[in-house]
Amino acid sequence: MRNDIQSVLFSEEQLAGIVQTIGKQISEDYKDKNLLMVSVLKGSVVFMADLMRAITIPCSIDFMSVSSYGSGTKTSGVVKIIKDLDINLKGYDLLVVEDILDSGLTLSYILELLQSRSPKSIKVCTLFDKPDRRTAHIKADYAGTIVPDEFIVGYGLDYDEKYRNLPFVGILKPEVYEEADRKVSSDSSKE
Ligand code: 5GP
Ligand code: MG
Ligand code: MG
Repeated sequence: MRNDIQSVLFSEEQLAGIVQTIGKQISEDYKDKNLLMVSVLKGSVVFMADLMRAITIPCSIDFMSVSSYGSGTKTSGVVKIIKDLDINLKGYDLLVVEDILDSGLTLSYILELLQSRSPKSIKVCTLFDKPDRRTAHIKADYAGTIVPDEFIVGYGLDYDEKYRNLPFVGILKPEVYEEADRKVSSDSSKE
C-alpha cells in the first residue's frame, strides 16, 4: 500500500499537531454552547475520532453519509443521502466535520438540508481545504490546513475505497490511476 504513494504531504505527527490546534480552538469557542459534531462519512471518520478526543468540553456526535463521488477523482455534482442523522437538531450548536472541502458542492447541499432542521447554529470544520477548486459559495469556519490541487489519500481519504487506513496523507503514484483506467477500458471493450 505504501508503495503506491509518490510523496507524503502530512506525516502522522503533523496531522496530530493540526488536530490538537483545532480541538483547542473549538473547546474554547463552544464552552458555553451545546456542541453536536456531525461527521460526514466515510472520509472524515479518522479526523472525527481524533478531533473529538482533542476537545475538552462535553459534546455529542452523530454521523451521516452522502455520496458525491464515484470511483474516480472528480465530484459528480449529484448528492444522495445514504444514511441520515439519528439526533433531532433542535437546540444544538452543530459543527459539521469534513475531511476535505474541494468544490464545496457536497457540503453546500448538506448545509442547506441541516439548516432546514432549525439547529441553534451551524458551523463547518474541515481538515483539508482546497480553496482554488471552490465553485459553491462556502467557507470553512475551521480549516486544518490548505492543500494543493492534487488528489490526496490516507487518514480517512480514499481512492476507490482504498488507502483510508494509511496513518499519513500522501499523493498517489500516477501508475495507480493509469492501471485502473486500463482495467476500465479493457472491461468495456469486452462488451
Ligand atoms: P466537493 O463536493 O467539495 O467537491 O467534494 C468533497 C468530497 O470529495 C470530500 O469529502 C472527499 O470525499 C472527496 N474529495 C475531494 N478532494 C479529494 C482528494 O483530494 N482526495 C480524496 N481522497 N477525496 C477527495
Ligand atoms: Mg467528505
Ligand atoms: Mg472518496
